[in-house]
Amino acid sequence: MKTIIRTILIAFTAMFASLSVSPTFAADYPAKPVTMVVPYAAGGPTDTVARLIAQAMSNDLKQQVLVENVGGAGGTIGASKVAHAAPDGYTLLLHHIGQATSATLYRKLPYSVLDDFAPIGLVTDVPMTIVARKDFPPKDMKELIAYVKANKDKVTYANAGIGAASHLCGMLFMSAIQTQVTTVPYKGTGPAMNDLLGGQVDFMCDQTTNTTSQIKGGKIKVYAVTTKTRVASLPDVPTTAEAGLPAFEVGVWHGLYAPKGTPKPVIDRLSKSLQAALRDGNVKQRFADLGTEPEPQNRATPEALRAHLKAEVEKWAPVIKAAGVYAD
Ligand code: ASP
Repeated sequence: MKTIIRTILIAFTAMFASLSVSPTFAADYPAKPVTMVVPYAAGGPTDTVARLIAQAMSNDLKQQVLVENVGGAGGTIGASKVAHAAPDGYTLLLHHIGQATSATLYRKLPYSVLDDFAPIGLVTDVPMTIVARKDFPPKDMKELIAYVKANKDKVTYANAGIGAASHLCGMLFMSAIQTQVTTVPYKGTGPAMNDLLGGQVDFMCDQTTNTTSQIKGGKIKVYAVTTKTRVASLPDVPTTAEAGLPAFEVGVWHGLYAPKGTPKPVIDRLSKSLQAALRDGNVKQRFADLGTEPEPQNRATPEALRAHLKAEVEKWAPVIKAAGVYAD
C-alpha cells in the first residue's frame, strides 16, 4: 500500500513539475544568447543567409543569435555538433540541401539526418550559378563543355566537400557531360571564391548569395543559373536549359533545426521568430539583391521542413546512387 501511495505521489510530483517547468521555461526562453551553427566557413553563401536571419531573429527574440562557423567534411561536422548539443534551444543549425544529400552520400554519419534533429522551418531556396575565374577561356556553356572535355586532366573544380551543394552541382555537371575533373575541396565556398578570384581554381557552381556581386562586378565569368526560369537580379544570365544543359536544375533550399528533444514550446517560439525574420524588410531586400526570396510563412514551420527534408532525402538517394559517389 505504502509503495503504491509513494508511486502515485512521485507521478503527481513529476506531472506538476512538468506542468510548471515547461511553460515557465518557454516564457523565459531565450534567457541567454543563442548559437546558430553554419556548417561552412565564414564569408560564404550559407553564412550570408544565416547572418541575415540571425540578426532579424535577434531583434525578435530580444537576445543575440550568434553565428558560429563549423566548416569541414561537406557540412557534416557542423551538423554533428548540433545533433549532439543539449536540446535546450540554445544551439541551432542552419543547413541547406546538403542535410538531405549527405544522408546518402555518407556511408556512415555520426547522426541520423531524419531522426536527430527537431525541424524549425524552411528559410529560402537559392539558385546556383555555374561560374569560372575571369580569364578561363570558354565564353559560354557550349565552349565550357567542350573545353572541360578536352582538358579534363588539367581543369579544376572547387567545392565545399562531399555533401555540399557545390559538390552536388559539380557531380551533376560532370555526369551530364560524362567527364570527371579534379575537385578541390574547401571548408566552404567563401574561401573557394577567394581562390577563384585569385585564379587558383578554374570553375565552380555556387549559390547566387555568393556569386551575384562578383558576377555584377565583372570579377568572375558566369555560364548559367541552375533554375527553370531566369533570376531577376541576374537577368542576362541564361538558365542551364537555355545555355544547352537541359534537365539540369538545382535549388539550394535552407532549413533551420534544433537538436532532437528540444521542448515543443521552444521550437514553436523559434519558428515564430524565423517567420518574423522572413517578413523583415531588410532580409527581403538583401535576399532580392542576392537572387532569392524568403520562404512563405506557412513553409517556415516544423511540419513543412520535416516533410521537405524527407522528400529531398528520397529524391536525391537514387541520383547519388546512380552517380556512385560515396564518402566514408
Ligand atoms: N555554398 C557552399 C556549398 O557548396 C557552402 C557554403 O560555403 O556556404 O554548399
